Amino acid sequence: MKTKEELKNRDTTPNKKTTYRNFPMVPRVIFGPGCFSQLGEILLPKRKNSDAPFIFLIDDFFENQEFASRIPLMFNDEIIFVSAEEEPKTEQVDTLVAHINEKFDEKPSGIIGIGGGTLLDLAKAVSILLNNKGLAKDYQGWDLVGRPSLYHVGIPTVSGTGAEVSRTTVLLGPEKKLGINSDYTTYDQVILDPDLTRTVPKDQWFYTGMDCFIHCVESLEGTYLNAFSKSYGEKALELCKEVFLDDLSESESRDKLMMASWHGGMSIAYSQVGIAHAMSYGLSYLLGTKHGIGNCLVFQHLGEFYPRGVELFKQMVQKHQIELPQGTCANLTQDDFDTLINVALGMEALWENALGPNWKTIMTPKRLQGLYEKI
Ligand code: ZN
Repeated sequence: MKTKEELKNRDTTPNKKTTYRNFPMVPRVIFGPGCFSQLGEILLPKRKNSDAPFIFLIDDFFENQEFASRIPLMFNDEIIFVSAEEEPKTEQVDTLVAHINEKFDEKPSGIIGIGGGTLLDLAKAVSILLNNKGLAKDYQGWDLVGRPSLYHVGIPTVSGTGAEVSRTTVLLGPEKKLGINSDYTTYDQVILDPDLTRTVPKDQWFYTGMDCFIHCVESLEGTYLNAFSKSYGEKALELCKEVFLDDLSESESRDKLMMASWHGGMSIAYSQVGIAHAMSYGLSYLLGTKHGIGNCLVFQHLGEFYPRGVELFKQMVQKHQIELPQGTCANLTQDDFDTLINVALGMEALWENALGPNWKTIMTPKRLQGLYEKI
């Protein structure tokens, strides 16, 4: 991790000039139920020649499903189905890149990621590594990518992670779970078709949606908050409340959650997440817990830090009759707890955002272990 100055939007140290981050946004986006059918015409002008394929990285949930037949394949385009059972890994990125480089003489025209956060993150990383030498782990960190990535398109089929708008791709590496955070990570094109989220299993819908809800709470309650983040965070929070606490029609609910994810992602782009994310990273690193569910496991116990948010969260859990797993940390050794604590406390910017500059005096390792023990 870089220092807090590099992670914060502005550095307010006295006698130092204030600098603001200049961050990229997705330049092209299409939204609407059924808009996926326009993918072929969107890709056509981006085809370099008939030997330069588009590579579609698709969640293997869709293998042998009718959806796969709607992929607009031409020439030597390839579909690669990828399991999203586990959090994306740097090794997985390297294997995909090696496969593509070996199989095709010509560099692909682009990479299309179709799925939830895992697939969206993998596709971003693959597009970076196809244009930059070395291994994925070499680029985990801030602004380490030297050359623009290959043209890449993100198509979410689950709403909530905000991976479709973010300038990072979070990967589990050999030594750390950390994003490739760069100006070249952001998608060139995003396709927001709420109909693609029709088939999401209910638990996954809920956990991924809660990722968005938690982005909003952590951004809005954070010390890094500014008018930019607030405007997006408030809108996303309002949409989450409608989706998870009101009785919307299914199609309205899909549309709104997709836009909540987008706005929630925009909100954290210019601020930071907080305690639930820091702790969830620990769970993911040690136990492989998936991001959305990990956030929920942690967030339920954070009432002293996010009272209103946790109250709403519990109402949502109840309304949708979600059974959160219990005893996740029940059989851990002290060594395991130490790993959890080290990974979590390593996310300095998240803690500073949540608790302010004196966070180390507030969140001691002992207090943090107490929180993990409840999970
Ligand atoms: Zn998240």
